Amino acid sequence: MRRLKIVITASEMAPFAKTGGLADVVGALPKALAARGHEVIVVMPKYASVKADMALFHSPMGVWMGGAQEWCSVHMAMYEGIPVYFIEHNNYFGRKGLYNDENMNEYGDNPKRFSFLSRAAIQLCQDLGYSPDIFHCNDWQTAMIPAYLKTWNFEGTSVENSASVLTIHNMAYQGMYDPSNMGYMGINGRYFTFDKFEHNGRVNMLKGGIYFADAVNTVSPTYAREVVSGMGYGMDGQLLAKGERFFGILNGADYSIWNPETDSKIPANYSSDDMRGKWICKGRLQEAMGLENDYTAPVFGVVGRFTSQKGYNLVAEAAERIICSTSAQIAIVGNGDNDLEGHFSWLAAKYPGRLGCYIGFNDKLAHLVEAGSDFFLMPSLFEPCGLNQIYSLKYGTLPIVRNTGGLSDTVDNFDERTMSGNGFKFDDFTPDALAGTMFWALRIYRQRPDAMEVLRRNAMKSDFSWDRSAAAYEAMYMKALNR
Ligand code: ADP
Repeated sequence: MRRLKIVITASEMAPFAKTGGLADVVGALPKALAARGHEVIVVMPKYASVKADMALFHSPMGVWMGGAQEWCSVHMAMYEGIPVYFIEHNNYFGRKGLYNDENMNEYGDNPKRFSFLSRAAIQLCQDLGYSPDIFHCNDWQTAMIPAYLKTWNFEGTSVENSASVLTIHNMAYQGMYDPSNMGYMGINGRYFTFDKFEHNGRVNMLKGGIYFADAVNTVSPTYAREVVSGMGYGMDGQLLAKGERFFGILNGADYSIWNPETDSKIPANYSSDDMRGKWICKGRLQEAMGLENDYTAPVFGVVGRFTSQKGYNLVAEAAERIICSTSAQIAIVGNGDNDLEGHFSWLAAKYPGRLGCYIGFNDKLAHLVEAGSDFFLMPSLFEPCGLNQIYSLKYGTLPIVRNTGGLSDTVDNFDERTMSGNGFKFDDFTPDALAGTMFWALRIYRQRPDAMEVLRRNAMKSDFSWDRSAAAYEAMYMKALNR
């Protein structure tokens, strides 16, 4: 395998800016690719919230947008051996939120902000005389790069032969805007057709990206099948048209960050051979979430964005049934949808000591929930890959998941007869199905300590390290280069 030059572009990268799993992937994949011998750099925005030990690298940088040059600066920081370039444009990125204001309203100029980011990533390579083999773009925010590479004239510049791949982390977010943005974005009107950018009269950045990318993937094999069979949010045909250039590649987990044996964010470390640390974590979690300090009480953990995708409305209903008829506790960390935030806060007030909730984004607490809970709930309506269930496996916190997308690919349902499996799965998207599965898990917890032990060991042995996924990305890059 030859050494490839890969530019990964994204709107999030852990630990610099994160709203969800995209950031974790962009934080981990470059390291895994570099470990396999490739040259990898990352380009992302310099949001006001980014904290990094960075140095001014290139300024001013002129970027052609809407027929005029717009100016920005580029800063650079090293992250675990990977050069990360931050695009500084205060008018666009000098805000606290990544995509939304504090009331969760989307910024009106997002199409401009992220097409600028995309164009700036290309410009940086041109200015450096750097010739990437691959631009690896992520989601609609950088999906303009494949389109720019194919529709603008870069002949004679360093990027003239670069190929592009587009990874879609969630089909529900496509970047659809008023066509009046096309002038600034640099989309020629002749590409505003149904097979390229046009979608229900709007300009759809993801759709154009899918069309122009040399290869496209989503983040699990099952989700890749689902999105071409009715769950593609209107992109099913667009993806099918990619044929063998469309892949499903399961995300990995960064076990240098998510590993109970080494995690510095939890109060005690532990392993499958010595679980004492987990019980310390459980006590701390109960304390932090205002739950009764009872180590015999089973704890269900939840961490995630409160959106309709995640199925937390099922949790809200199932939680009351569980609390009213068992001694179980529930610890919830998340934010987003106002109704859900209000409802979980109300449940916490109604069942003090039994249901604890923290509304907000708190990375340390997320680690504590993974470590201190007995079970982890992900009843998603759909789930492209899902990382939390993969983390919870490693922490010996048994995932209870709906059988969809990446949850299907990573959790094996417990079989009481053969004692195989690493978690619990259900099919129906109903509170009954979730509650029924929680009751099943509680019965195992109370009556079958031997089975709990086997399940925990199986879970902690499950291996989703990035190297395997990085090898699959390599294969996709080769497909993209083979144009
Ligand atoms: P998605 O990308 O759909 O949000 P994933 O399960 O793939 O879902 O990834 C979610 C990531 O974001 C995990 O690392 C999770 O711990 C983190 N996360 C989500 N919500 C919060 C929160 N409120 N506080 C801390 N971390 C969070």
